[in-house]
Amino acid sequence: MEFTTRSAAELIELENQHGAHNYHPLPVVLSEGKGVHVWDVDGKRYYDFLSAYSAVNQGHGHPRIVDALIRQSLRLSLTSRAFYNDRLGVYEAFITEYFGYDKVLPMNTGAEAVETAIKLCRKWAYERKGIAENQAKIVVCEQNFHGRTTTIVSFSVDPDAYGHYGPYTPGFVVIPYNDVDALREVLENEPDVAGFLVEPIQGEAGARVPGEGYLSACHALCKHYNVLFMADEVQTGLARTGRLLACDHEEVRPDILILGKALSGGVYPVSAVLADNEYMEVFKPGQHGSTFGGNPVAAAVAVAALEVLREERLAENAQQMGEYFRGEMEQLCQESPVAVAVRGKGLLNALIVNNHDKKDLAWDICLRMADHGLLAKPTHTNIIRFAPPLIITREEMKECIAIIRQCVR
Ligand SMILES: *Cc1c(COP(=O)(O)O)cnc(C)c1O
Repeated sequence: MEFTTRSAAELIELENQHGAHNYHPLPVVLSEGKGVHVWDVDGKRYYDFLSAYSAVNQGHGHPRIVDALIRQSLRLSLTSRAFYNDRLGVYEAFITEYFGYDKVLPMNTGAEAVETAIKLCRKWAYERKGIAENQAKIVVCEQNFHGRTTTIVSFSVDPDAYGHYGPYTPGFVVIPYNDVDALREVLENEPDVAGFLVEPIQGEAGARVPGEGYLSACHALCKHYNVLFMADEVQTGLARTGRLLACDHEEVRPDILILGKALSGGVYPVSAVLADNEYMEVFKPGQHGSTFGGNPVAAAVAVAALEVLREERLAENAQQMGEYFRGEMEQLCQESPVAVAVRGKGLLNALIVNNHDKKDLAWDICLRMADHGLLAKPTHTNIIRFAPPLIITREEMKECIAIIRQCVR
Protein backbone atom coordinates (compact mmCIF):
# COMPACT_ATOMS: atom_id res chain seq x y z
CA MET A 1 0.00 0.00 0.00
CA GLU A 2 1.28 3.42 -0.93
CA PHE A 3 0.76 5.03 2.49
CA THR A 4 2.85 2.50 4.35
CA THR A 5 6.02 3.21 2.36
CA ARG A 6 6.64 6.03 4.85
CA SER A 7 8.37 5.26 8.12
CA ALA A 8 6.62 5.38 11.47
CA ALA A 9 8.63 8.46 12.44
CA GLU A 10 7.66 10.27 9.24
CA LEU A 11 3.99 9.44 9.72
CA ILE A 12 4.01 10.65 13.31
CA GLU A 13 5.71 13.83 12.15
CA LEU A 14 3.01 14.37 9.51
CA GLU A 15 0.34 14.20 12.19
CA ASN A 16 2.33 16.51 14.43
CA GLN A 17 2.81 19.04 11.67
CA HIS A 18 -0.62 19.04 10.08
CA GLY A 19 -3.09 17.74 12.63
CA ALA A 20 -4.48 19.56 15.63
CA HIS A 21 -2.82 18.34 18.82
CA ASN A 22 -6.01 17.31 20.60
CA TYR A 23 -4.77 13.77 21.27
CA HIS A 24 -1.65 12.24 22.78
CA PRO A 25 -1.30 8.80 21.14
CA LEU A 26 1.16 6.08 22.06
CA PRO A 27 3.98 6.21 19.51
CA VAL A 28 2.71 3.26 17.47
CA VAL A 29 1.61 3.67 13.83
CA LEU A 30 -0.93 1.04 12.82
CA SER A 31 -1.73 -0.02 9.30
CA GLU A 32 -3.68 -3.28 9.54
CA GLY A 33 -6.07 -5.09 11.82
CA LYS A 34 -7.66 -8.52 11.92
CA GLY A 35 -9.58 -10.02 14.81
CA VAL A 36 -7.82 -9.32 18.12
CA HIS A 37 -4.66 -8.13 16.37
CA VAL A 38 -3.33 -4.98 14.77
CA TRP A 39 -0.08 -4.50 12.88
CA ASP A 40 2.15 -1.45 12.67
CA VAL A 41 3.84 -0.11 9.55
CA ASP A 42 6.93 -2.21 10.29
CA GLY A 43 4.86 -5.38 10.37
CA LYS A 44 5.01 -5.81 14.15
CA ARG A 45 1.91 -7.52 15.52
CA TYR A 46 0.06 -6.41 18.67
CA TYR A 47 -2.90 -7.57 20.70
CA ASP A 48 -5.36 -4.69 20.73
CA PHE A 49 -6.45 -4.18 24.35
CA LEU A 50 -8.23 -0.92 23.67
CA SER A 51 -10.54 -1.99 20.84
CA ALA A 52 -10.95 1.66 19.86
CA TYR A 53 -12.60 2.37 23.22
CA SER A 54 -14.89 -0.65 22.78
CA ALA A 55 -15.98 0.15 19.23
CA VAL A 56 -14.33 -3.02 17.90
CA ASN A 57 -16.02 -5.54 20.20
CA GLN A 58 -16.56 -7.90 17.26
CA GLY A 59 -12.84 -7.79 16.35
CA HIS A 60 -11.05 -5.91 13.57
CA GLY A 61 -12.31 -6.41 10.04
CA HIS A 62 -15.05 -8.86 10.91
CA PRO A 63 -15.78 -10.45 7.51
CA ARG A 64 -19.54 -10.33 7.89
CA ILE A 65 -19.62 -6.67 8.94
CA VAL A 66 -17.10 -5.61 6.29
CA ASP A 67 -19.11 -7.51 3.70
CA ALA A 68 -22.25 -5.59 4.68
CA LEU A 69 -20.28 -2.32 4.44
CA ILE A 70 -18.88 -3.06 0.99
CA ARG A 71 -22.02 -4.48 -0.53
CA GLN A 72 -24.25 -1.67 0.69
CA SER A 73 -21.71 1.01 -0.32
CA LEU A 74 -21.81 -0.32 -3.86
CA ARG A 75 -25.63 -0.30 -3.98
CA LEU A 76 -26.60 2.92 -2.19
CA SER A 77 -24.76 4.83 0.50
CA LEU A 78 -26.69 7.99 1.29
CA THR A 79 -30.08 9.42 0.44
CA SER A 80 -30.60 11.70 3.44
CA ARG A 81 -33.89 11.35 5.26
CA ALA A 82 -35.63 13.46 2.64
CA PHE A 83 -36.54 10.10 1.06
CA TYR A 84 -37.17 6.60 2.30
CA ASN A 85 -34.61 3.88 1.61
CA ASP A 86 -34.86 0.11 1.53
CA ARG A 87 -32.48 -0.50 4.48
CA LEU A 88 -33.57 1.85 7.23
CA GLY A 89 -36.95 0.34 8.07
CA VAL A 90 -35.46 -3.16 8.08
CA TYR A 91 -32.78 -2.00 10.50
CA GLU A 92 -35.27 -0.15 12.71
CA ALA A 93 -37.51 -3.20 12.96
CA PHE A 94 -34.46 -5.34 13.74
CA ILE A 95 -32.88 -3.18 16.43
CA THR A 96 -36.12 -2.36 18.26
CA GLU A 97 -36.99 -6.06 18.43
CA TYR A 98 -33.39 -6.86 19.49
CA PHE A 99 -33.50 -4.49 22.47
CA GLY A 100 -37.24 -4.52 23.13
CA TYR A 101 -38.22 -0.89 22.50
CA ASP A 102 -40.96 0.65 20.36
CA LYS A 103 -38.74 3.04 18.45
CA VAL A 104 -35.19 3.96 17.51
CA LEU A 105 -33.70 7.29 16.44
CA PRO A 106 -30.52 6.75 14.39
CA MET A 107 -27.52 9.05 14.68
CA ASN A 108 -23.80 8.66 13.95
CA THR A 109 -21.55 9.35 16.92
CA GLY A 110 -21.98 8.67 20.60
CA ALA A 111 -22.06 12.36 21.47
CA GLU A 112 -24.88 12.94 18.99
CA ALA A 113 -26.87 10.12 20.52
CA VAL A 114 -26.38 11.62 24.00
CA GLU A 115 -27.47 15.02 22.65
CA THR A 116 -30.51 13.34 21.15
CA ALA A 117 -31.38 11.77 24.50
CA ILE A 118 -31.04 15.14 26.25
CA LYS A 119 -33.31 16.83 23.71
CA LEU A 120 -35.83 14.00 23.90
CA CYS A 121 -35.86 14.14 27.69
CA ARG A 122 -36.33 17.90 27.84
CA LYS A 123 -39.05 17.92 25.18
CA TRP A 124 -40.90 15.15 27.00
CA ALA A 125 -40.60 17.11 30.25
CA TYR A 126 -42.25 20.21 28.75
CA GLU A 127 -44.86 18.49 26.63
CA ARG A 128 -45.84 15.52 28.80
CA LYS A 129 -44.57 15.94 32.34
CA GLY A 130 -45.63 19.59 32.55
CA ILE A 131 -42.40 21.24 33.63
CA ALA A 132 -42.42 25.00 33.02
CA GLU A 133 -40.58 26.18 29.91
CA ASN A 134 -36.77 26.26 30.25
CA GLN A 135 -36.86 24.90 33.80
CA ALA A 136 -36.10 21.21 33.13
CA LYS A 137 -33.10 19.76 34.91
CA ILE A 138 -31.14 16.64 34.09
CA VAL A 139 -29.18 14.94 36.84
CA VAL A 140 -25.73 13.62 35.87
CA CYS A 141 -22.80 12.09 37.76
CA GLU A 142 -19.33 13.28 38.67
CA GLN A 143 -16.51 11.87 36.54
CA ASN A 144 -18.96 11.29 33.72
CA PHE A 145 -17.89 10.97 30.12
CA HIS A 146 -20.67 11.43 27.57
CA GLY A 147 -18.84 13.04 24.66
CA ARG A 148 -17.39 16.33 23.49
CA THR A 149 -20.14 18.69 22.36
CA THR A 150 -20.54 22.06 24.04
CA THR A 151 -23.65 20.96 25.93
CA ILE A 152 -22.11 17.68 27.07
CA VAL A 153 -18.88 19.26 28.32
CA SER A 154 -21.05 21.78 30.18
CA PHE A 155 -21.69 19.09 32.79
CA SER A 156 -18.25 17.48 32.79
CA VAL A 157 -16.17 17.82 35.96
CA ASP A 158 -12.89 17.36 34.06
CA PRO A 159 -11.22 20.78 33.50
CA ASP A 160 -9.53 19.45 30.34
CA ALA A 161 -12.96 18.61 28.94
CA TYR A 162 -14.77 21.85 29.81
CA GLY A 163 -12.03 24.44 30.34
CA HIS A 164 -12.44 27.65 28.27
CA TYR A 165 -15.39 26.29 26.32
CA GLY A 166 -17.98 28.42 28.10
CA PRO A 167 -20.53 29.86 28.29
CA TYR A 168 -21.99 26.54 29.30
CA THR A 169 -25.42 25.00 28.74
CA PRO A 170 -27.40 25.29 31.98
CA GLY A 171 -29.92 22.80 33.34
CA PHE A 172 -27.70 20.05 34.72
CA VAL A 173 -27.31 18.94 38.32
CA VAL A 174 -24.11 17.03 39.09
CA ILE A 175 -24.17 14.46 41.92
CA PRO A 176 -21.57 11.91 43.04
CA TYR A 177 -21.56 8.61 41.14
CA ASN A 178 -22.58 5.45 42.97
CA ASP A 179 -24.56 7.44 45.51
CA VAL A 180 -28.27 6.57 45.61
CA ASP A 181 -28.93 8.98 48.50
CA ALA A 182 -27.56 11.89 46.48
CA LEU A 183 -30.05 11.13 43.72
CA ARG A 184 -32.88 10.71 46.22
CA GLU A 185 -32.10 14.06 47.77
CA VAL A 186 -32.21 15.87 44.44
CA LEU A 187 -35.43 14.18 43.38
CA GLU A 188 -37.09 14.91 46.74
CA ASN A 189 -36.18 18.59 46.74
CA GLU A 190 -36.14 19.57 43.10
CA PRO A 191 -39.51 19.38 41.33
CA ASP A 192 -38.22 20.19 37.84
CA VAL A 193 -36.08 17.13 37.19
CA ALA A 194 -36.73 15.58 33.77
CA GLY A 195 -34.11 12.85 33.63
CA PHE A 196 -31.13 11.06 35.13
CA LEU A 197 -28.27 10.40 32.70
CA VAL A 198 -25.83 7.71 33.82
CA GLU A 199 -23.10 5.35 32.61
CA PRO A 200 -23.82 1.90 34.10
CA ILE A 201 -20.06 1.60 34.50
CA GLN A 202 -17.95 4.73 34.05
CA GLY A 203 -15.67 3.82 31.17
CA GLU A 204 -13.42 6.83 30.65
CA ALA A 205 -13.10 7.30 34.41
CA GLY A 206 -11.30 3.92 34.39
CA ALA A 207 -13.95 1.21 34.54
CA ARG A 208 -15.57 2.48 37.73
CA VAL A 209 -18.13 -0.15 38.66
CA PRO A 210 -20.90 1.05 41.00
CA GLY A 211 -22.00 -1.04 43.95
CA GLU A 212 -24.46 -3.83 43.33
CA GLY A 213 -28.00 -2.52 43.37
CA TYR A 214 -27.03 1.04 42.43
CA LEU A 215 -28.65 1.01 39.01
CA SER A 216 -31.83 -0.72 40.13
CA ALA A 217 -32.20 1.63 43.11
CA CYS A 218 -31.69 4.69 40.88
CA HIS A 219 -34.13 3.27 38.35
CA ALA A 220 -36.77 2.75 41.05
CA LEU A 221 -36.31 6.33 42.30
CA CYS A 222 -36.69 7.66 38.76
CA LYS A 223 -39.90 5.67 38.32
CA HIS A 224 -41.26 7.02 41.60
CA TYR A 225 -40.58 10.65 40.65
CA ASN A 226 -41.57 10.31 36.98
CA VAL A 227 -38.00 11.05 35.89
CA LEU A 228 -36.50 9.40 32.79
CA PHE A 229 -33.70 6.93 33.48
CA MET A 230 -31.26 7.40 30.59
CA ALA A 231 -28.46 4.87 30.27
CA ASP A 232 -25.40 5.86 28.25
CA GLU A 233 -24.33 2.40 27.12
CA VAL A 234 -22.13 3.71 24.30
CA GLN A 235 -19.12 2.00 25.87
CA THR A 236 -20.63 -0.54 28.26
CA GLY A 237 -23.31 -1.88 25.91
CA LEU A 238 -23.18 -4.50 23.19
CA ALA A 239 -21.74 -7.40 25.17
CA ARG A 240 -18.69 -5.57 26.53
CA THR A 241 -19.46 -6.19 30.22
CA GLY A 242 -20.59 -9.79 29.87
CA ARG A 243 -24.25 -9.06 29.16
CA LEU A 244 -25.84 -7.48 26.11
CA LEU A 245 -26.25 -4.28 28.15
CA ALA A 246 -24.52 -3.44 31.41
CA CYS A 247 -27.99 -2.58 32.79
CA ASP A 248 -28.95 -6.23 32.24
CA HIS A 249 -26.76 -7.20 35.21
CA GLU A 250 -29.40 -5.58 37.43
CA GLU A 251 -32.41 -6.29 35.24
CA VAL A 252 -32.88 -2.58 34.70
CA ARG A 253 -34.64 -1.44 31.55
CA PRO A 254 -33.70 2.19 30.81
CA ASP A 255 -36.45 4.55 29.64
CA ILE A 256 -33.94 5.87 27.14
CA LEU A 257 -31.08 3.70 25.90
CA ILE A 258 -28.07 5.27 24.20
CA LEU A 259 -25.82 3.12 21.98
CA GLY A 260 -22.81 3.79 19.74
CA LYS A 261 -19.29 2.53 19.22
CA ALA A 262 -19.63 -1.25 18.66
CA LEU A 263 -23.02 -0.78 17.00
CA SER A 264 -20.99 -0.82 13.78
CA GLY A 265 -18.20 -3.14 14.92
CA GLY A 266 -15.89 -0.18 14.36
CA VAL A 267 -16.18 0.07 10.57
CA TYR A 268 -18.43 3.14 10.45
CA PRO A 269 -19.87 5.71 12.88
CA VAL A 270 -23.28 4.43 13.96
CA SER A 271 -25.19 5.45 17.09
CA ALA A 272 -28.78 5.14 18.22
CA VAL A 273 -31.28 6.17 20.85
CA LEU A 274 -34.00 3.70 21.78
CA ALA A 275 -37.21 4.51 23.65
CA ASP A 276 -40.90 3.63 23.74
CA ASN A 277 -43.59 5.57 21.89
CA GLU A 278 -44.70 7.63 24.89
CA TYR A 279 -41.29 9.33 24.80
CA MET A 280 -40.18 9.11 21.19
CA GLU A 281 -43.47 10.51 19.91
CA VAL A 282 -42.51 13.99 21.13
CA PHE A 283 -40.28 14.34 18.05
CA LYS A 284 -42.21 15.61 15.06
CA PRO A 285 -40.89 16.10 11.50
CA GLY A 286 -38.22 18.77 11.32
CA GLN A 287 -37.55 18.88 15.06
CA HIS A 288 -34.40 16.77 15.11
CA GLY A 289 -32.22 15.00 12.57
CA SER A 290 -28.91 14.26 10.91
CA THR A 291 -27.85 14.07 7.25
CA PHE A 292 -26.02 10.80 7.75
CA GLY A 293 -28.12 9.34 10.57
CA GLY A 294 -29.80 6.12 9.49
CA ASN A 295 -28.14 6.00 6.08
CA PRO A 296 -28.29 2.68 4.19
CA VAL A 297 -24.67 1.75 4.89
CA ALA A 298 -25.06 2.44 8.62
CA ALA A 299 -28.27 0.44 8.68
CA ALA A 300 -26.76 -2.57 6.91
CA VAL A 301 -23.60 -2.49 9.02
CA ALA A 302 -25.49 -2.21 12.32
CA VAL A 303 -27.68 -5.23 11.55
CA ALA A 304 -24.57 -7.29 10.76
CA ALA A 305 -22.74 -6.04 13.87
CA LEU A 306 -25.68 -6.97 16.14
CA GLU A 307 -26.09 -10.38 14.51
CA VAL A 308 -22.42 -11.12 15.12
CA LEU A 309 -22.74 -10.28 18.83
CA ARG A 310 -25.61 -12.73 19.20
CA GLU A 311 -24.45 -15.55 16.94
CA GLU A 312 -20.89 -15.61 18.25
CA ARG A 313 -22.16 -15.41 21.82
CA LEU A 314 -19.80 -12.55 22.59
CA ALA A 315 -21.48 -11.56 25.86
CA GLU A 316 -20.87 -15.07 27.24
CA ASN A 317 -17.25 -15.00 26.11
CA ALA A 318 -16.74 -11.53 27.60
CA GLN A 319 -18.14 -12.79 30.89
CA GLN A 320 -15.86 -15.85 31.01
CA MET A 321 -12.69 -14.16 29.74
CA GLY A 322 -13.31 -11.27 32.11
CA GLU A 323 -13.47 -13.54 35.13
CA TYR A 324 -10.30 -15.29 34.04
CA PHE A 325 -8.54 -11.96 33.44
CA ARG A 326 -9.50 -10.37 36.77
CA GLY A 327 -8.58 -13.54 38.66
CA GLU A 328 -5.08 -13.44 37.19
CA MET A 329 -4.74 -9.69 37.77
CA GLU A 330 -5.81 -10.06 41.39
CA GLN A 331 -3.00 -12.52 41.81
CA LEU A 332 -0.62 -10.06 40.18
CA CYS A 333 -1.73 -7.40 42.68
CA GLN A 334 -0.72 -9.76 45.50
CA GLU A 335 2.71 -10.33 43.97
CA SER A 336 3.63 -6.88 42.72
CA PRO A 337 3.95 -3.66 44.73
CA VAL A 338 3.18 -1.76 41.53
CA ALA A 339 -0.21 -3.31 40.80
CA VAL A 340 -2.72 -2.07 43.37
CA ALA A 341 -6.13 -3.32 42.27
CA VAL A 342 -8.13 -4.57 39.34
CA ARG A 343 -11.74 -3.67 38.69
CA GLY A 344 -14.28 -4.05 35.94
CA LYS A 345 -16.94 -6.29 34.51
CA GLY A 346 -16.78 -8.64 31.57
CA LEU A 347 -13.99 -7.38 29.34
CA LEU A 348 -14.14 -3.74 30.47
CA ASN A 349 -11.39 -3.76 33.08
CA ALA A 350 -8.79 -1.50 34.59
CA LEU A 351 -5.62 -2.07 36.56
CA ILE A 352 -4.76 0.57 39.12
CA VAL A 353 -1.03 1.07 39.56
CA ASN A 354 0.90 2.75 42.34
CA ASN A 355 2.47 5.81 40.73
CA HIS A 356 3.62 7.34 43.99
CA ASP A 357 7.31 7.24 43.07
CA LYS A 358 6.88 7.64 39.35
CA LYS A 359 4.12 9.85 38.10
CA ASP A 360 4.00 8.51 34.53
CA LEU A 361 4.08 4.88 35.58
CA ALA A 362 0.89 3.86 33.75
CA TRP A 363 2.16 5.46 30.55
CA ASP A 364 5.56 3.76 30.94
CA ILE A 365 3.95 0.37 31.48
CA CYS A 366 1.88 0.89 28.35
CA LEU A 367 5.02 1.70 26.36
CA ARG A 368 6.67 -1.43 27.65
CA MET A 369 3.61 -3.55 26.87
CA ALA A 370 3.62 -2.12 23.34
CA ASP A 371 7.25 -3.29 23.01
CA HIS A 372 6.04 -6.73 24.02
CA GLY A 373 3.15 -6.72 21.56
CA LEU A 374 0.16 -5.55 23.56
CA LEU A 375 -1.56 -2.18 23.15
CA ALA A 376 -3.42 -0.57 26.02
CA LYS A 377 -3.95 3.05 26.96
CA PRO A 378 -3.65 4.71 30.33
CA THR A 379 -6.53 6.78 31.59
CA HIS A 380 -5.51 9.34 34.21
CA THR A 381 -1.95 8.79 35.41
CA ASN A 382 -2.41 5.58 37.38
CA ILE A 383 -5.05 3.53 35.57
CA ILE A 384 -4.56 1.18 32.62
CA ARG A 385 -7.68 0.08 30.81
CA PHE A 386 -7.81 -3.43 29.36
CA ALA A 387 -10.57 -4.00 26.83
CA PRO A 388 -9.70 -6.49 24.09
CA PRO A 389 -12.12 -7.46 21.32
CA LEU A 390 -14.71 -9.84 22.76
CA ILE A 391 -13.73 -12.62 20.37
CA ILE A 392 -10.49 -13.24 22.28
CA THR A 393 -9.86 -16.92 23.04
CA ARG A 394 -8.59 -18.37 26.29
CA GLU A 395 -5.24 -19.22 24.69
CA GLU A 396 -4.81 -15.67 23.46
CA MET A 397 -5.85 -14.26 26.81
CA LYS A 398 -3.31 -16.46 28.53
CA GLU A 399 -0.55 -15.11 26.33
CA CYS A 400 -1.71 -11.53 27.01
CA ILE A 401 -1.80 -12.05 30.76
CA ALA A 402 1.79 -13.27 30.58
CA ILE A 403 2.80 -10.09 28.72
CA ILE A 404 1.03 -7.82 31.21
CA ARG A 405 2.49 -9.73 34.13
CA GLN A 406 6.02 -9.47 32.79
CA CYS A 407 5.74 -5.75 32.05
CA VAL A 408 4.19 -4.80 35.37
CA ARG A 409 6.75 -6.75 37.31
C1 LIG B 1 -17.17 7.25 23.69
C2 LIG B 1 -18.33 7.63 24.52
C3 LIG B 1 -19.23 8.64 24.11
C4 LIG B 1 -18.99 9.51 22.91
O1 LIG B 1 -18.94 8.81 21.72
P1 LIG B 1 -18.30 9.52 20.43
O2 LIG B 1 -18.63 8.55 19.31
O3 LIG B 1 -16.84 9.65 20.67
O4 LIG B 1 -18.97 10.83 20.26
C5 LIG B 1 -20.34 8.87 24.89
N1 LIG B 1 -20.56 8.18 26.01
C6 LIG B 1 -19.73 7.21 26.44
C7 LIG B 1 -20.04 6.46 27.68
C8 LIG B 1 -18.57 6.91 25.72
O5 LIG B 1 -17.73 5.98 26.15
